[in-house]
Amino acid sequence: MTSSYRNISALFLLLVFCAILPLDAQTPPQRTVAVTVDDLPAGAAISMTGTEIKEMTAKLLDSLRDQKVPAVGFVNEQKLYHLGEVDDRIAALNLWLENGFELGNHTYSHPSLNSVPIQNWEEEVVRGETVTRWLLAQRKMRLRYLRYPFLDEGRDIKTRRDVQAFLSSRGYEVAPVTMDAWDWMYAGVYEDARRRGDAALQQRLVSSYLSYTTTVFDYFEKLSKDLVGYEPRQILLLHANWLEADHIGELIELLRKRGYQFISLEAALEDPAYSQPDEYVGGGTGYIEHWAATRGRPAKGEPNFPQWVVDLSAEVHRNQLKSAAPGAVTNPTPY
Ligand SMILES: [Zn+2]
Repeated sequence: MTSSYRNISALFLLLVFCAILPLDAQTPPQRTVAVTVDDLPAGAAISMTGTEIKEMTAKLLDSLRDQKVPAVGFVNEQKLYHLGEVDDRIAALNLWLENGFELGNHTYSHPSLNSVPIQNWEEEVVRGETVTRWLLAQRKMRLRYLRYPFLDEGRDIKTRRDVQAFLSSRGYEVAPVTMDAWDWMYAGVYEDARRRGDAALQQRLVSSYLSYTTTVFDYFEKLSKDLVGYEPRQILLLHANWLEADHIGELIELLRKRGYQFISLEAALEDPAYSQPDEYVGGGTGYIEHWAATRGRPAKGEPNFPQWVVDLSAEVHRNQLKSAAPGAVTNPTPY
């Protein structure tokens, strides 16, 4: 058989194969998503050494860079001030910039705007800028994004608008979220299992996390289509932890299979969906829920988070409290 004959045969087989595939399997939808990672340098920075934080960060960023996935990391600078480890912790942040990623502000110590006075919260924004702004300036970059802790944007519309005006006067753009599979809840249990060498539990958590992510994407893709008539450029919320460092490759593969391309946060925010009216006030949540509430159609039927993970997470937290020295601060609930 000549090589051109072989090529034609192969082409014919490919055409036959395509003809018997259902249409939606042939042309996956053109979907886009921006990746954002909160609680830098690490969700559990309090119980990690600077060396471990650097190791975790390097592993996470290697996968993102190899897969050509852009990302913005949001910093809580309070986590840098650990005696004898400040350099290591700042070096972990700098790895983001060295690898071509961007940093944003997540406030100094992660307070909720729904539970502290505006003035205190705004001071937290300013205090959270020091090191991040300096690191960005070394590379002629500007601190331009803010992510609200717990996604809380204020309990009433006046607070929300006043703080938005304050943020834009300081040159910030708010970084919303549309997709969130609560990786932080998995991560606490995963990191505990990792420390104990419980590989079976780690694997069970990863499977559950990926399957819950699928449920979340199914639900919000449909809800966003119902509300705004199309699937906007989505923005995914992740956190800096060992679960993502070890397994983000599997998450990226899962999303690629759904037809997602990975874009920058800047490109995602160009979607007109993010300029539509948003009158939402209340508990922290994603922007698809904001749009639903604003249209008088509050979202219902959100996927249930697996209860066994909630239970294990509470158990891990109780054990951390038991073994901590009196008065010590343990890891707060990150979000
Ligand atoms: Zn957070």
